[in-house]
Amino acid sequence: MLGKLETVFSYMTHFLLYTWPENRPGILFLTDAKGCLLHMFSMQVGQTWIPGAFHWHAGESLAQTPESVVMRAIDSGQIVSCTASDFSGEQDCAIVALPLKESDGRIRAIIGLALPEEELAFDLMSYMRGLEPLVYMGYDAYIQHTTSDIVMNINRYDHYAELVQSLIQEIVSVIDKGVCSAVKLDEKGYLLPQERYTTEEIGTKSDTQLAQILPLYIHEPIKPMTSEDRRLIIFPIQSEGKPLTALFLHLPADETELSYDDRDVAFLQQIGEKISYTLLRTIIADNTRRDVQKKEMLYQITKKIQATIDVDEVLTEIIQSLHSLYPYFQADLYLTVETNTTLPVKQLTFSPGENVTSSQAYMEGKLISNQLEEDGQQVTVIAAPLLGKQGMYGVLQLSAKELVNIDNYETDYISILAETAGTAFENAQLYQQSRNLIRELRLINEMAQQLNRSLNLDEILQFVTTMLLTTFEAEYCAILQKDLDEDQLIVLSASNPAHAGERISALQQPLHDTIRSKQAVILANPSTETMPFSLVPFASLMAVPLLQESEVSGVLLVCDSRHHFFSFDDFKLLEIFGQHTSLAITNAMLHSEVERMVITDNLTGLSTRRYLGDQVQGSLSTDSAGSLILMDVDYFKSVNDTYGHQVGDEVLIQVANLIKSNIRDSDVAARWGGEELAVYLPHVEEATAFSVAERIRASVEQETNPRVTISCGLATWNREGDRNMSVESMFHTADVALYEAKRQGRNQVRTAY
Ligand code: GH3
Ligand code: MG
Ligand code: MG
Repeated sequence: MLGKLETVFSYMTHFLLYTWPENRPGILFLTDAKGCLLHMFSMQVGQTWIPGAFHWHAGESLAQTPESVVMRAIDSGQIVSCTASDFSGEQDCAIVALPLKESDGRIRAIIGLALPEEELAFDLMSYMRGLEPLVYMGYDAYIQHTTSDIVMNINRYDHYAELVQSLIQEIVSVIDKGVCSAVKLDEKGYLLPQERYTTEEIGTKSDTQLAQILPLYIHEPIKPMTSEDRRLIIFPIQSEGKPLTALFLHLPADETELSYDDRDVAFLQQIGEKISYTLLRTIIADNTRRDVQKKEMLYQITKKIQATIDVDEVLTEIIQSLHSLYPYFQADLYLTVETNTTLPVKQLTFSPGENVTSSQAYMEGKLISNQLEEDGQQVTVIAAPLLGKQGMYGVLQLSAKELVNIDNYETDYISILAETAGTAFENAQLYQQSRNLIRELRLINEMAQQLNRSLNLDEILQFVTTMLLTTFEAEYCAILQKDLDEDQLIVLSASNPAHAGERISALQQPLHDTIRSKQAVILANPSTETMPFSLVPFASLMAVPLLQESEVSGVLLVCDSRHHFFSFDDFKLLEIFGQHTSLAITNAMLHSEVERMVITDNLTGLSTRRYLGDQVQGSLSTDSAGSLILMDVDYFKSVNDTYGHQVGDEVLIQVANLIKSNIRDSDVAARWGGEELAVYLPHVEEATAFSVAERIRASVEQETNPRVTISCGLATWNREGDRNMSVESMFHTADVALYEAKRQGRNQVRTAY
């Protein structure tokens, strides 16, 4: 039997009043199945007649005394009556009690009538028997009325969730026992457990009674069903043959006394059928709204992709969309590519038993949906590959710690979102690649230009060092050159200037490998610590050999204490830098060699005549004084004649070395031609120059072997005395003095006057 007894009673009262003689006193009353008074109604309008038979208080038991009419009616299940004479006391009323039964015969309530004995002008039992159909008519009217009330009420709703929530509340308030739940159905009639509503009090979601019932019915389309113990009723609502929602009536395990009867089933069906169209309407409206929402989201995401290359923004948008469309799922990103995302990203591992669904989705390159059991709990996992046109970038995984049925329409959408994310990755990567490429080309171009601009080795080294630091933003870089000692490298230039000129072992790693294999290396220390290295400890390192005619001449080195600091693109760029640097350094070295050759005499290692001339010229224009000593080996011809040209050359070298060891670095010694040598002493006055010449002459006389002597001619100038002194006149003056020394007997120094 349905409904709150009080409500049903008021309907019945309404019907009974029609048959009640006017102005006759009488009390209609209602008790529950245990005889407790629930309600009473005075049939005599405007008058109050209260019999003394009962304690007429709502909630009091009317079945306390053994002779109680109510008690007897409950016990017998029959209509029972008594008259005033049946009461032992001063009772003045007659009472009749009619048990209201469920269809299974169980008594739900007692409806009774009390009236004054003297008013009893008819057979109370027959009257009550006659009333019985009216009672049930009242009941039917109540059901009809309630049903149409519910349907009308439901019609107001435009959203599925609101409608269903209100519906199950109303159903429970009528059925008045147990729980009512509604679970959405897919178009084939299968349960969509994630879209469920229930009047059950929710503790933790998984231990509700509904959560235990659903898995039993998940595997096939829902059909109308009443369980054998009549404690579970399922009724799928359909409209135009399309399954919409399954209604569940279920009794909590602790309410062992209760069960559902045919009227409950009939009511549920009646309600279900009457609201089916409204339900369909809200579902269609919801679907339409959802479609619009989905399209809008996709549009926004696509717009983002075109407007930004920020993968994070796109991914955030996608995750938010997923969350609002599928609130029961948790979304996780598993990436297999390196990215600078700040979003929480998980690593896709392929070990057995882990990330089964995501691994499968990644391997097969398509969306996979699995319903699993984890630690006795139902788990649903959906994984869609982040697929771009050129590759796969990871997996988008949706997981719920419950059973979720999701139709193709939704999984298609999830696939599209995942592909959109894949495209975002791809775009970002392509963009990054092209940016890197442009950056590389620009850098290489700039480098080549700069390097071509200079043939000065120091400048080139400085430039390359700066370039390495700024390009790779690394903490340390160095240019190393192979030393004459093959096992050592000399630091030509380093970001730490104190390292310049230092020699380090070429046998340590990774230098040794680089030099031996002539291959560039990139190192990333797997542990979190840095690796020791003679220049600077590092966690990331790149080394590129500098090749000169396919032989290793040195190494370009870039390192940093941060982990995984260099990308593969950095590495390729450094290799290109290496080629340019090798070439530039080789050119600069060749150039400085040629320059050296131009200003240096081959045989003696002294400067050339031209260089000396330039130096004297420079001194004449900037200094305040200077002296020139011209020297000629005495009787050199006879040295050649006696010992041969070879020995003559050696004697010349000996003389040149003796000159070098007797002058200062700031002085310039040159081979003037043949066996004539010259020294220019800037700032030096005559007296000092004379003693230098004398010192050289003396050491040549003493230290050459075979022994030779030299004659020296000295010319000096100072700014006050010889304002217009020229290089030519200076040499001429010295030459004259030299001639004088020869003439005076050789092996002596003469000053020109
Ligand atoms: P003095 O200067 O004392 O008058 O006599 P001398 O024998 O040195 O005479 P002179 O200056 O005329 O001769 C220079 C000789 O030096 C001629 C040449 O054979 C020799 N000579 C010039 N340059 C070189 C050279 O580079 N190597 C050798 N071995 N001999 C040279
Ligand atoms: Mg000579
Ligand atoms: Mg000579």
